[in-house]
Amino acid sequence: DTTTDVDAEETLQPRPPVVTIMGHVDHGKTSLLDALRGTDVVRGEAGGITQHMGAYQIKTKGGELVTFLDTPGHAAFTQMRMRGANVTDIVVLVVAADDGIMPQTVEAINHTRAAGVPMIVAINKIDKHEANPQKVRERLLEHEVVVEAMSGEVQDVEVSAKTGAGLDELIEKILLQAELMELKANPDREAEATVIEAKLDKGKGPLATVLVNRGTLKVGDILVVGTESGRVRAMLDDKGRQVKAAPPSMPVEVLGIGGVPMAGDRLSVVDSEQRAREVSSYRQEQATAKRTATAPT
Ligand code: GDP
Repeated sequence: DTTTDVDAEETLQPRPPVVTIMGHVDHGKTSLLDALRGTDVVRGEAGGITQHMGAYQIKTKGGELVTFLDTPGHAAFTQMRMRGANVTDIVVLVVAADDGIMPQTVEAINHTRAAGVPMIVAINKIDKHEANPQKVRERLLEHEVVVEAMSGEVQDVEVSAKTGAGLDELIEKILLQAELMELKANPDREAEATVIEAKLDKGKGPLATVLVNRGTLKVGDILVVGTESGRVRAMLDDKGRQVKAAPPSMPVEVLGIGGVPMAGDRLSVVDSEQRAREVSSYRQEQATAKRTATAPT
C-alpha cells in the first residue's frame, strides 16, 4: 500500500478531534450523543434536520468543530481497531451516577487503555435522586482511573443527557484535551479516509460514511476503498446537505463507489481509473486467496 508516507510538518494544520462515547448499556450513550448533537449551533440554524450516518460533527458556541462517532458501543471501536483503523482521538466514558461501575464500563476502560486513547469521564444521570457521583469517582480508583476531582489527571464532568446539565463543560473538556494533543493533518493533498458505515441503498446504490483522516476529499475524486473502486459522484454531510469538499475529521456520506465496502476499510484517492481498478482487483485477489487459505477443509 501507498498509505505509509508522512506529511511534512509545515503542511500540517489543526483538525477537529474525533470522539467516541463508550460505557455500560443503558448508562446513556445514545442520549448523550443526541444531546450533544442538539448543542450544534449550525444545526440550530438549519432547523434540526438530521440524518443518521454513523458520525456527525458539531460546531460549538466558540466556533470549534468536534466530530462524534455515532456508533456507540465497544463493537464498532474494537472492530475498527482490529482492522487497523484507529479513528478515535478521545473516548468519553459514560458512567450512570445511579448505577455506577458495571462490567461494560470496565471493558470500555480496558479497550481505551489498550488503544492508548485519552479518556474523559462523563458521570451521567446526575438529575436522578439516586445519583452518587462521588461513589463513581471512588470506584474508578479500583480500575486505576484517577479523575481530577480525586487529584488525578483524567478529566471528569457531571452531566445529564436528560436536562442538558454539564454538556457545555463536557465540550470544553473535549476541546481542552484536543488542544493538548495538538491534532493536525495536511488538508492540501489527495484524501485518505476510513469507512465508518456502509450500506446498499435501493435508489442511490452503495453508500459509505467515511471520516477523512488527511487531505480533502472532493466530488470527482477517483478512489479505492477496500476491494472496491469508484469516483465520488456526490457527498452529503450529516445534515443531508450536498458538499463539494470534505477536509480532515469531517464525516461525509459518499455516493459513487462500485460496491459496498466494510467498516474500517481505508479509502484512498488515486490519479486514474485504471490505477483504481488495478489496486481494487489486486486487493480482490488477495482477499480471495486469504479466504481460500483459511477455508476449512
Ligand atoms: P445507552 O444504552 O447507553 O445508549 O443508553 P440510553 O441513551 O439508551 O439511555 C438509557 C435510559 O436512560 C433511557 O431510558 C434514557 O432516557 C435514560 N437516560 C439517559 N440519560 C439520562 C439522564 O441524564 N437522566 C435520566 N434521568 N435518564 C437518562
